[in-house]
Amino acid sequence: MTAIIYPNIEYPIVEILESLQGEGFNTGLPCIFVRLGKCNLACPWCDTNYNEYEKWGVVKILERVKSYSAKNIIITGGEPTMYANLSVLLDVFKAEGYWLAIETNGLKTVPKQIDYIATSPKLMYQEKYLRECISFANEVRIVMDKGDVQGFCEQIETQIRAEHYYLSPCEINGKMNLLETITQLGILNQRANKPKWQLSLQTHKLVGIE
Ligand code: SF4
Repeated sequence: MTAIIYPNIEYPIVEILESLQGEGFNTGLPCIFVRLGKCNLACPWCDTNYNEYEKWGVVKILERVKSYSAKNIIITGGEPTMYANLSVLLDVFKAEGYWLAIETNGLKTVPKQIDYIATSPKLMYQEKYLRECISFANEVRIVMDKGDVQGFCEQIETQIRAEHYYLSPCEINGKMNLLETITQLGILNQRANKPKWQLSLQTHKLVGIE
């Protein structure tokens, strides 16, 4: 049998773990989360330690991934689309038969190997999205941040065609602005002939899993 030779590339890995997807359309799906370091944005309420990472080679990443039973991988971050070499790792996962999803802020192109795109555009960087962002996602999730959420949701509806649109409460110091979020949902969904928005909660935090 011929040994497989993997590319000699390293990726900044914050963590790799198996859990259930906690939010959005795929809530409850058993997944392996591959969290990459660094981000091209700096949201003040970000709950990810994306600057604490180690460089891992492809073999080490694949060994860890294969130690879990799930056959779905969510590539997340930080911002995973920042890496030009990401496609190489995705090809390795695809060759092993994994279904691939990505969680991205939507400012950069998503690699073609991805089966499911979840994007979370950020209101505080509205100007960047006006200049350029992806044009399709399976789901859009916008956080109920301070500012013109209504205007931003309407902007993103026109820029990113999606199967599902979600609004999520913003959590700061353990407190969620749930009332503001559902009030905003009601306003969005009263519009005639417009995409319908749904509530997405970070249920993994509510039930105490990673
Ligand atoms: S885009 Fe996501 S990972 Fe990056 S700073 Fe904002 S919340 Fe954190």
